[in-house]
Amino acid sequence: MIEERYDVVVVGSGPAGSVTARTVARQGLDVLLIERNQEIGVPVRCAEGVSKGVEQFIKLDKRWICAEVKGANIYSPDGTKVTLGGDMMKEVGYVLDRKQFDKALANDAADAGADVRVKTEARGVITDTGYVKGVYVHSMDGDARIYADVVVGADGVESRIGRWAGVCTPLKPSDICICAEYLMCDIDIEEEYSEFFLGNKVAPRGYAWVFPKGDGCANVGLGISGDVSGDGHRAIDYLKNFVHDKFPKAKVLTEIYGAVPVCGPLTKSTANGLVLVGDAARQVNPITGGGILYAMQAAEIAGDVIAKAVQEGDTSAERLEEYDNRCRNEFGRHMEMSLKAKNFFFNMSDEDLNTLVHSLEGLTLKELSTRALLQELIKRNPKRLVALARLIL
Ligand SMILES: Cc1cc2nc3c(=O)[nH]c(=O)nc-3n(C[C@H](O)[C@H](O)[C@H](O)COP(=O)(O)OP(=O)(O)OC[C@H]3O[C@@H](n4cnc5c(N)ncnc54)[C@H](O)[C@@H]3O)c2cc1C
Repeated sequence: MIEERYDVVVVGSGPAGSVTARTVARQGLDVLLIERNQEIGVPVRCAEGVSKGVEQFIKLDKRWICAEVKGANIYSPDGTKVTLGGDMMKEVGYVLDRKQFDKALANDAADAGADVRVKTEARGVITDTGYVKGVYVHSMDGDARIYADVVVGADGVESRIGRWAGVCTPLKPSDICICAEYLMCDIDIEEEYSEFFLGNKVAPRGYAWVFPKGDGCANVGLGISGDVSGDGHRAIDYLKNFVHDKFPKAKVLTEIYGAVPVCGPLTKSTANGLVLVGDAARQVNPITGGGILYAMQAAEIAGDVIAKAVQEGDTSAERLEEYDNRCRNEFGRHMEMSLKAKNFFFNMSDEDLNTLVHSLEGLTLKELSTRALLQELIKRNPKRLVALARLIL
């Protein structure tokens, strides 16, 4: 068996993995970034929407921006449309081309000095005296043992790295949002708005979305909670109904299936010689299902902590815990608030959802964020949302 050695091995080259590898490499460490698929960014399992905050993590490049959006249309179960954002707000976000975006991030990692290998799958972790010491990998070159001071599990929602290393990562059906999505063309939509559709008939314990991709195309998808999915009422069944109602003439170019962890971040995503980042650490906003920017934010923190730990020669769980603590400081409270709000809204009837959406009519917001929207909803529906206010304020 081939044997190699790096300071750090990063498993998975989504946003979490590439940004961790880039950050560690910039500190002068030897880093290997591995990806099991033959092409980075493919297949896309994402609606590709992000806020302008993405610019903190990567220089904007038109090659991976499909559309700019300046607001959101929210539809209540009875079909009432409320528009948030618009001309008074600067463009609020982008719809990405993740095939190009993920490649650009891996390219940045390579530019910083990381080695990158595709079609290389981690099959297990090497452990010794209570420490993770590397990964067993399989590639076209055969099987290899790659030793490292720190292994980073950036292997997405289905992460096995954490489980192999003994970190508690299981997900209950209610912790997962199951998604189905079409990339559609010949579709009649508002090109500068993202659209969100609520209702128990549309997407129980979830929502449907339409994100413009330019040139008359859009990502049309929905997510439902794992605990309401079953024969005849799977995410794809709801999507077929949705598309039949809303876009009967549009054509499907791609079908996408995937899952999002919506349980809030792991309390502990580190062990001796191991760090989990991104979906692997459940760093996704539980109410929106958005994880790209959290993955990148956490990855920068992870890279910084790992580089210091390796340079100090202390990669113990206690040393790496700084990563968990800094993530909690950066976005822990926001995640907690979103999780509570999600659990509250999940139990609402369509009638209640209608009332809430109607209450937003005429609203102008300075920023289009979960926090701003929740605060406004509570202000406008103090009696109905008194329990939510107690939970999150
Ligand atoms: C349908 C859908 C729509 C979404 N829409 C949005 C959205 O609009 N906005 C948003 O912010 N978020 C969205 N998300 C969530 C977002 O896609 C994730 O949060 C984000 O991709 C997390 O990045 P990551 O790097 O942690 O994981 P991933 O992007 O999943 O990357 C993990 C990588 O690890 C690789 N890998 C796994 N196992 C191994 C192994 N053993 N060896 C080597 N490589 C391995 C995988 O092939 C993959 O490339 C959506 C998710 C879904 C499913």
